[in-house]
Amino acid sequence: MREFDLLQPKTLNDALEALAQNNATIRPLGGGTDMLVDLRARRVQPDTLVALQGVNELRGVTRANGHLHVGASTTIAEILKNPLFAPFNALRQAASVFANPMIRNSATIAGNIGSASPAGDMLPPLLALNAQIELVSRNETRVMPLSEFFLGPRKTAKRADELISSIQLLVTSNQSPVSNPQSSAFYKLGLRQADAISLVSVAVWLERDGEKIRDVRIALGAVAPRPMRATRAEEILRGQIFSETNLKESARIASTECSPISDLRASADYRRRMIAVYVRRMIEQAWQHF
Ligand SMILES: Cc1cc2nc3c(=O)[nH]c(=O)nc-3n(C[C@H](O)[C@H](O)[C@H](O)COP(=O)(O)OP(=O)(O)OC[C@H]3O[C@@H](n4cnc5c(N)ncnc54)[C@H](O)[C@@H]3O)c2cc1C
Repeated sequence: MREFDLLQPKTLNDALEALAQNNATIRPLGGGTDMLVDLRARRVQPDTLVALQGVNELRGVTRANGHLHVGASTTIAEILKNPLFAPFNALRQAASVFANPMIRNSATIAGNIGSASPAGDMLPPLLALNAQIELVSRNETRVMPLSEFFLGPRKTAKRADELISSIQLLVTSNQSPVSNPQSSAFYKLGLRQADAISLVSVAVWLERDGEKIRDVRIALGAVAPRPMRATRAEEILRGQIFSETNLKESARIASTECSPISDLRASADYRRRMIAVYVRRMIEQAWQHF
């Protein structure tokens, strides 16, 4: 591993100042679970790392103005235990099959997003939940839909002087008479039941109006250069009665929308077939949760 300087700022301002004053060889450090592997493999060779663990402004989960604001340093373990995440079933399901308890205690949500792996477990649920991402630099704060953040494998819209500061999720209440019931579900297919990188993953979000699916989002992982929405599959279901025929057709379309690769773990054809299976199952599961 190449030597590097480690900065440990105590405030967000200090972290942003460090990023602004250095060149592209400075990198933020969250829980380090991806970064350490990358450093050892010399996939990244930064001169300086900015450790974010001591920055309080990046911690905490709060509910305000109809949104859940999830601090960048929120760990996967916290998503499992904090009751504020209860409305976001898909996110909780992804957290429950994420690595193992030790990794979940260190790995952060911003680190999962920052790594931009097509197989990152938290990414399909966040896309299905229509998450917004807040990016801060010394001079600017910008909020963008997460769907616009991923540009390719390990490539994002984040500039070198920016940090992910929070992730925002719209909170609705199934008890409220003015909003329709909403539900979400996630499944990761791996070579082992837990602690395995996904072969495919699927997250869905549904809004129900009587016997109709009023709105729907379907997100897929590990079957394209970046986590993706299956928008044509969504069109088959949006505004339609929940029916076996629509479900089958939507799942079939989803399997044609993705572009998986064949590798040692599975063929592209198998991955496509599994997308059809799990899109259908996750829609059924989310519907049953209403
Ligand atoms: C044994 C093992 C098992 C794993 N299992 C899984 C799994 O089941 N599912 C899965 O999805 N992943 C898994 N991972 C990968 C990893 O744990 C996750 O991607 C994790 O979420 C990374 O978070 P981190 O806080 O450790 O990020 P780090 O390693 O600290 O950083 C990752 C990247 O994000 C950037 N970054 C971190 N924080 C910020 C920020 N606030 N703003 C901008 N950029 C930032 C860093 O610069 C770096 O590029 C596993 C890793 C290991 C070692």
